[in-house]
Formats: sequence, structure tokens, C-alpha cells
Amino acid sequence: MKKLLALTLTILMAFGNISTPARELFDDVPETDWAAPYIYNLVDRGVINGYGDGSFGRNNDVLRCEYAKMLVNIADIYIQQSSVSPYSDVPTTEWYFPYITSSAAYMTGFQSSDGTLYFDPEAPATREAVTVAIVKALRIDVSAHKDSNDFLAGKFSDWNNISPHNRPYIAASVDKGIITGDQNGTFRPDSPIIRAEIVAVLYRAFPDEHNVTPAVSKSDNSSAVNERLTAFFLDVGQGDCCFIELPNGETMLIDAGTASSSGYIISFIKERGHNDIDYVIASHPHADHIGGMSKVFDAFEIKNMYMTQKSSDSKTYKNMLASIENEGCSVNYIQAGTSINTIPNVTAEFVAPYRLNFSNLNDTSAVLRLDYLEGSYLFSGDAEQMAEYEILSFGRNLDADVLKVGHHGSDTSTSDAYLSAITPNIAVISCGINNSYGHPHQLTLSKLLNIGASVYRTDTDGTVSVFTDGNDITQNNVVCYGKS
Ligand SMILES: [Zn+2]
Repeated sequence: MKKLLALTLTILMAFGNISTPARELFDDVPETDWAAPYIYNLVDRGVINGYGDGSFGRNNDVLRCEYAKMLVNIADIYIQQSSVSPYSDVPTTEWYFPYITSSAAYMTGFQSSDGTLYFDPEAPATREAVTVAIVKALRIDVSAHKDSNDFLAGKFSDWNNISPHNRPYIAASVDKGIITGDQNGTFRPDSPIIRAEIVAVLYRAFPDEHNVTPAVSKSDNSSAVNERLTAFFLDVGQGDCCFIELPNGETMLIDAGTASSSGYIISFIKERGHNDIDYVIASHPHADHIGGMSKVFDAFEIKNMYMTQKSSDSKTYKNMLASIENEGCSVNYIQAGTSINTIPNVTAEFVAPYRLNFSNLNDTSAVLRLDYLEGSYLFSGDAEQMAEYEILSFGRNLDADVLKVGHHGSDTSTSDAYLSAITPNIAVISCGINNSYGHPHQLTLSKLLNIGASVYRTDTDGTVSVFTDGNDITQNNVVCYGKS
């Protein structure tokens, strides 16, 4: 009786949310099927199809490759054009290649004991993997569920089978009603999800016409003092720009992208409620890093400028100097050892440059190490191998949770020794779609993946933010804004 009641409730809830289709059903989907409205809604939206023989296959397992395509379609994920596959078992010639690579930030692969990355595309998608990918694609903030064991234990007898690092995602999805457990009180994280279930789960996560690409986040109003440090790696095309909200409410900007990206940079920062920037840092005088500086100086009150004494004859550089002069802010020249000591609980120390007489301007980049209690970031600017070796030779602790990968992921940066000293959990690459430099290079991507870093890219993920409440930083602290 109890089971029948629960089933009736499920049906009522289903039909309460979504209208019944007024047309012929698939052969294997009776009109009374609780899943029918979800199936037709998602078929209409081009997220899933029947088999062409009149059947839908409602009880069939969803394969991982099929799920990647559904997720890309329903979450409107930008389809990445790539000529290399990160996974040994996902050939570039397969139909699912673009879907798997495009959704890689949400639906992750596996690593074998010899370090090979694989995806297992033909394996059934499990309830756990499916749910985690949805929460990531929706960019749901799971920090409230950081300690989710009690919550999950109160709901599911088999909560222990959920991978510990995925528990915050599962807890958040259950909390939001995206997925539920079985009536017997289990979640069955490792069980395949069937097609009738996936349509209901996807519908709940992405109701009709849901647009997952937010305007610059107005919901997480964290511009006030919030005791959180958030670094936003802005999608400025082929350039670098990182805007940081500090735990004391102050703000920092590391580089300002190209001149053409200044509009986006300014509106992003304004929409987060800021009218001034406390610390502006110019890593080095290349136009893809300081191109937007003059406009930024026009748009905000700048309090402190940090730059190296490496100059340039370019117009962009001269414009920046004029803007600084015009602003009348304090100017601080960076060298290794320079630090910003005015932010409570935050250590901001430059570990480079040690010298400026490099033939390669990139090697004069200011490299900033930023720590908020246990959470740590290393911003490598465009430093290439020569500069990396010097940074290493001075023996400072470089170990960091988050690495802004040097020089847009070029293979002339991120040397093995440098990377081994950092061992980041999170690597962020700032580069433009189909840029003419071939950034990021495959060798760099492989190195990062092999060292266990989760790689995020502004060319495919859009603006990427990485926050910390003062604790170590993992994938749970990353929010991708998607391509606009
Ligand atoms: Zn650059």
C-alpha cells in the first residue's frame, strides 16, 4: 500500500509540473507512464531521441557518451572544436568526441594506474556521475554541503557508497530536488540510470527554456565583506585578466586583457558591485595583459598600482603610464620579494621577477603567490622556462592549490620542475578560441592532467572562478560561467 501511494504521488507530481503531450506516444511509453511528459518535453527540445523504429527504449541504460551529448544539448554547453583527444579511448573520429571533450569539466574521465586517461564512453552512466555533472553544469554552489555525510546518512542507507569527493554534489542535488533516492531508502550511486529516469532528472535540473548561462552572477552577491576569496579568471579571449574579491571586501586586478576586452572586464566588475579597485597589478607590458588598463583606470577609482620597472615603447604601455599618472594612485615597483601586507589573513608575495634583463619580455613577468589561510594561488603571468628556473633556484615554497598556467598554456612554460614544485589541484588556462598560437599546447595539457590537476580553460569554459573560505582548494571550489 505504501509503495502504491508513493507511486501515485510521483505521478501526480510529474503531471503537476509538466503538461501531457497531445500526440502519439512511443510504442513502449504508455500514455499513463509517469515518464511520458518528461520524455516528450526533452524530445521536443532536441535533448534525446527515440530509436527510429517507434520505440523510445525507456528502460535502457544511458551510456556515458550518450549522456555527454544530452548534457551538452540541455545545458547549452559550447561545443569545443579540438583536434586532440584527452582520452585514450575517445578517438577524434567518433561522433561523441566533441560532446565528451566539451563537457569534460562536468563529466570527468578516469586515470589508469599507468597514468593513461580514459573515459569509458560505452559504459552505462551511473546515477552518481550523472548527478555530479548536472550540479557542476548548473554551477550550483555546493559549499553549504561541504560536510554532507550527516545529511546523506539521514537519507540513504547506502550513502557510504557515494565517493567522498562527490558527496557535496549529491547532497546539493537531493536538497534541490533534482534527484531522489529509491523508496527503500537507497541512492544506488553506482547503478546505471535508465532513459525514463534521466529525462525526469534532466527536466528537473533544466526546466523548459532554462538558460544556464547567467548574466554576470547577480545571485551570489559576494561583493560585500564575506570572508571568502574569489578569483575570477575572466574570459578575455587571447589575453590574461584575473579579478579577485578579497576576504576583507577589497579587490585586486591582475592584468587587464586586450583593449577589445576592456568593456567586458569593466561591466563584469561593475555588475559585481565594485566602483574601485584596491590593487591593480600589471604582470608585464604586453598588449594582451595591459591592453585594457587605460579603460579600467577610466572606469574605476584605482588605489594602488603594482608593476615591474620593465618598460616598453608601445603605445599601449605609454597609455597605461598616462592613466596611472592621471589617476594619481600610489605606484609600487615589483621585484621578487615584494609583498602586499595590508590584507588581513592574506599573504600576497611576488616570487618573480628576480631581474629584468631577459631578452624575452615574458620572462620579466611578475609572478604572484596569494595565500588566504590554507588556500593558495600562483599567478604565473607569461613567465617562461628561463624565469621558472630562476624562481625555483631561489628555493621559495611554490606549492599551491591553484595555478594560473604560465603564458596561456604554451609549451615554453610549465616546465616539469616548475610544475612538480607547484603540484596544483586546479589549473586555469586563459586563452582565446582557435588562437593563432595554438595555445594551450597539448604537451602542457598532458603534463597538467598527469600531475592530477583539473584543467579549466577560458576558451571553452568561459569565465572561471575559484574561491576559498580559507581552506584547501579543490574542484568543488570551481565555478565555470560557460561561454556567452
Ligand atoms: Zn600573454
